Amino acid sequence: VLPFSAITLDRAATLRTDPEWVATQLRDERARIVAASSAGVLADGASLLRGPVELGVAEPILLGLEAESPLFAVDLDRLQQPERLIDGGAVIGLREAGAQLAPAEAGLAAYLASLLAWHRRHGFCANCGARSEVRSAGMMRECPRCGAQHFPRVDPVVIMTVENSGRLLLGRHAGWPPGRYSVLAGFVAPGETIEAAIAREVGEESGIEIESSAFVTSQPWPFPASLMLGCEAVARDGEPKPLDGELEDVRWFSADAIAAAEQANASLRLPPRISIARFLIERWARRTIGS
Ligand SMILES: [Zn+2]
Repeated sequence: VLPFSAITLDRAATLRTDPEWVATQLRDERARIVAASSAGVLADGASLLRGPVELGVAEPILLGLEAESPLFAVDLDRLQQPERLIDGGAVIGLREAGAQLAPAEAGLAAYLASLLAWHRRHGFCANCGARSEVRSAGMMRECPRCGAQHFPRVDPVVIMTVENSGRLLLGRHAGWPPGRYSVLAGFVAPGETIEAAIAREVGEESGIEIESSAFVTSQPWPFPASLMLGCEAVARDGEPKPLDGELEDVRWFSADAIAAAEQANASLRLPPRISIARFLIERWARRTIGS
């Protein structure tokens, strides 16, 4: 299971539209809060820290139900006395959360952080500029002036292995640690299919032409609210070149070179284990060496 991908709570999608039901959940003695700030999530060991509702909740943002227990989200950046809640836990970055929390807790951390980041940045109506209000226990904001409804954003990103004759196309950004290469990726543009986004991104970043592509698996990526659409593509033969200034280098790698990247003295370094990029690269190398 990819980090950030496992989530077990019930989002209470239909119940949450009833404000009276939400108010009842807030009064439920089993109700708990989990918290995040713009720096990360509040954790306690391998779990998110769960605190009593009394310590927070100005605008009720309900993540969902854990078994029967309501779980609300609190923004530490907006809390009057965040230290009362933080006591007993520690704010950890999301990359750390992805690596160290139990899978379902890391999934919850991604959901919590992405949702709160959206509320933090969308306090005003994009249509008329008035202050908007929380609805559906946090799954919507509504403008009291013009009535516009705004929903939490998720930004789709294509990320793909690109193969030609048993070689894999990898590129590197200038700021990365020495030797690190990864698969290419980019945001899906308005009006674009996943397949078209793959062909465009690979063409823009390397000049390589795509023959065919297929979806593999996905991963929520809470930086702040991407959804990584993991794909595999087959390319035409060609000499890749960094074209659009995004990459410092882009080239073909053999499956053997990728398999050797784990060794201590290898010159090639793969992306971190929490990323779908690493999963896609290793999946491709395993399949290519195995065939
Ligand atoms: Zn408005």
